[in-house]
Amino acid sequence: MLSIPDTIQKKRDKLELNQKDIEFFVQQVVNNGADDAQVGAMLMAIFLNGLSSKEIVHLTQAMATTGSLMEWPEEWKDTLVDKHSTGGVGDKISLLLAPALAALGLKVPMISGRGLGFTGGTLDKLESIPGFRVSLSSSEMSNCLEKAGCFIAGQTDGFVPADRRLYALRDVTATVDSLGLITASIISKKAAENIRALVLDVKVGTGSYQKSLADAKVLSKSLVSTAANLKISTTAIISNMDAPLGKTIGNSLEVREAVKILRREEHNNDIYELVTTLGGILLLSMNKVKTIDEGIASLGETLKDGRALLKFEDMIKHQGVEEKTARELCHGCIDLVLPRAEHVTAVEAQSSGYICGLDSLLIAKACGNLGASRFRAGDKLDLSAGFHLLKHVGDYVSKGEPWGEIHHNCSLSKDISQLLAESISISDERQFVSKRVLEIIHS
Ligand code: URA
Repeated sequence: MLSIPDTIQKKRDKLELNQKDIEFFVQQVVNNGADDAQVGAMLMAIFLNGLSSKEIVHLTQAMATTGSLMEWPEEWKDTLVDKHSTGGVGDKISLLLAPALAALGLKVPMISGRGLGFTGGTLDKLESIPGFRVSLSSSEMSNCLEKAGCFIAGQTDGFVPADRRLYALRDVTATVDSLGLITASIISKKAAENIRALVLDVKVGTGSYQKSLADAKVLSKSLVSTAANLKISTTAIISNMDAPLGKTIGNSLEVREAVKILRREEHNNDIYELVTTLGGILLLSMNKVKTIDEGIASLGETLKDGRALLKFEDMIKHQGVEEKTARELCHGCIDLVLPRAEHVTAVEAQSSGYICGLDSLLIAKACGNLGASRFRAGDKLDLSAGFHLLKHVGDYVSKGEPWGEIHHNCSLSKDISQLLAESISISDERQFVSKRVLEIIHS
């Protein structure tokens, strides 16, 4: 007969837990058979002693099946895909990628999250569109997939309840940063989406949780191999997050930028590279193309010919946005739809030269102080606050020339100005601007 103290002791003493031990522990987590102290003790034992690859797979499997798996019609089974990012600064990729994939006939049931700390959350960004609902019932999710081909929504109550409790307890027991626990948390939720293929965008750099390429590779390999064990065809890219992605950081500003790209009123090389690479990988995983390059080209076409924009419009309409509002956002005046901050204050360069660095973390912290992100779960956001980069890495800037604009409703503190002043590095020599995608990791 298994017991929680014995299972904790096994892990404490560095013995490998078997499938039964792990299933038992996870069941006790969801049935409240283990109290917070016991779950916390097990999390700490895992944090300190790690999990083997076998243990990670068992934990992921056990967690994925604690709630109800999403169910889709049989005829969709060869079309279901998703993408997950480990979180960055200015990361609006999902807003473009989900509709672009839908435009190519794939179905994208994207369960996304809210921002916490310095990273932004896709759900918060979308909530800056008036009427957009991130909370969908199962039948609404199916309807969105059927009609629009994609949705971006939050977790429902019955969605991987084990992760809900474990994540909350990890947060208060200093056990978030554990490779095995992160892997099980991310992949269990993707497994519960019942998808066929997954692409992961593992960020590395100042504006991400992985600060070194070595750490990003270890996490990528763990995620890819665990998902492959659960029969989800998975590829990871490692992408650079030293400088913010695109020109904007902040919820409604990022939606505006994504919509402008979909409307072909703006182009951004970094965003284009990431969206098309992630999409190209998925198209290849689903055997819709023969090479990644072919996939990249197909994906790019949906951005260039407006098909991705039409799918985005469909998606937001099926997620609660009134038809008139969706039309205005996608084809009319964006400013009539998205909230704008009351004040826009220019930030001027202190010297002349080429921009050789824009520190994502410092810019994200400045945006956090404006109210664009949360310090604690549940904090209310200022959806219109944020930062707009008028110049990016590689551009020349003259002393006194504005290189960015702060969008704010609050008064500007010294902290904010200092963070922004410290975030920019200027040099006499022009910096070679490298690609965002650093590596691709296959299963
Ligand atoms: N995202 C998750 O969903 N879980 C983690 O543990 C870390 C990032």
